[in-house]
Amino acid sequence: MTYDVAVIGAGPGGYVAAIRAAQLGLKTVCIEKGKTLGGTCLNVGCIPSKALLQSSEQYEWFANQAPDHGIASKGLTVDFKQMMDRKGEVVDNLVQGVAGLFKRNQITRIEGEAQLISPTQIKIGNEQIEAKNIILATGSEPIELPFMPFDEKVIISSTGALILPKIPKKMILIGAGVIGVELASVYRRLGTKVTIIEMLDRVCPGMDLAVSRALYKIFKKQGLIFHLSAQVTAAEVSKNKVTVTFTQKDESQTIEADVVLVGVGRRPYSKGLNLEKLDIALDSKGLVSVNGNFQTIHSNIYAIGDLIEGPMLAHRASEEGVAVAEIIAGKTPHVNYMAIPNVIYTHPEVASLGLTEEEAKELGIEILTGTYQFRGNARARCAGDLEGFVKVIGDKKTHRLLGMHIVGPHASEMIGEGVIAMEKRATLEDIGHASHAHPTLSEAIKEAALAAFDKPIHA
Ligand code: FAD
Repeated sequence: MTYDVAVIGAGPGGYVAAIRAAQLGLKTVCIEKGKTLGGTCLNVGCIPSKALLQSSEQYEWFANQAPDHGIASKGLTVDFKQMMDRKGEVVDNLVQGVAGLFKRNQITRIEGEAQLISPTQIKIGNEQIEAKNIILATGSEPIELPFMPFDEKVIISSTGALILPKIPKKMILIGAGVIGVELASVYRRLGTKVTIIEMLDRVCPGMDLAVSRALYKIFKKQGLIFHLSAQVTAAEVSKNKVTVTFTQKDESQTIEADVVLVGVGRRPYSKGLNLEKLDIALDSKGLVSVNGNFQTIHSNIYAIGDLIEGPMLAHRASEEGVAVAEIIAGKTPHVNYMAIPNVIYTHPEVASLGLTEEEAKELGIEILTGTYQFRGNARARCAGDLEGFVKVIGDKKTHRLLGMHIVGPHASEMIGEGVIAMEKRATLEDIGHASHAHPTLSEAIKEAALAAFDKPIHA
């Protein structure tokens, strides 16, 4: 049996590529080594973490804010098992949804680990298939620290943090990146004392500096404990406890916890694919090199998602999946990386798009910036959610939007306006002069744009 397209890996890159290829009339097979479809994102990433963030955020709202609204919240308790079960149901429902989409689009699904034999042949256990085109979408895995291997009980990765049997009393998070601060927020809200040790001098590095600084203040106020510019050097596990040693300002300190969540990043996963046999080289980070059309050195073998250079995001992987399927079908798609948002689902949320102020300056671009605080926004007042701001960055000459950074309630939904503006190469005036419903949080975007080239009304 020869397929037009074989996709290896059924994460948001692979499964979306398979669906798009099938929609375009290509005979498609998708090989996934996991028992369920959906990859990291649906099984142990975006979805379970957001389910827990949602549950714990509601708990915290009832505990802290409900009384302000005249809602009694006495006797509030957490049934952690139920919270975890619900998270499991959300995941099950969505992975079954992908299986349904595969059936509807007549995509052949093979369960097993794929190994490349030649540029057109793939081995899966005892089975061998032929494909004219192959899409590598095998994703990534959590990075382990050499001196503290994961046991997923005491020294855990994000995967372990999503299936803890009980709420830990004390947790240490190593690394203040996006995945880590989200999971730390879940447990902090449920009563865990969380200490974060970060090597750099800021939280969520890579975000606009104003965002990083605001988050640091907000997270500290919420009760997260930080040691910035600090480096973990050792960990000792004894009787379900762990003692972590770190150095900060040349001083060595130790802290004890029930669990240590190692959140130092993820690395591309290509084990077992047999890439070396086909001379598909990996760079020093383990990423597969591709050209502008996502082709490896074999023009019929493509790679997408976490396996290649770029932000490790589900929607980025999906955009690339669609693009590759369309390229194979003879179309000329384009992925606009400037218009791919990056979200942190803490409370307040953070959503970031395009260039940060520091990046624009490094590139030597003269910019205009405008910031508007949510405390001036009527809808934020109604919700009692005043923390955060919208910051827009525009090109000083053309006024074209270059970046949008939001710290605030529902930032993940609001950034959609920035995405469309970026896609359509809108100017600050396009955003600032557009009518935004009142009262809405998105009025803060309009005001920030006005602040960049003129004056906001409510300031
Ligand atoms: P993956 O989703 O990793 O899928 C790769 C698949 O390939 C896996 O199912 C794997 O089993 C399979 N595979 C590997 N090797 C083989 C083989 N040889 N044969 C067959 N199958 C194979 N991103 C967001 O955009 N938003 C979020 O909110 C978000 N939250 C996250 C939270 C957590 C805790 C984590 C860990 C990640 C999160 N991410 C989020 C990142 C997101 O999950 C990844 O960027 C995304 O899943 C990458 O998609 P992918 O298709 O490239 O790879």
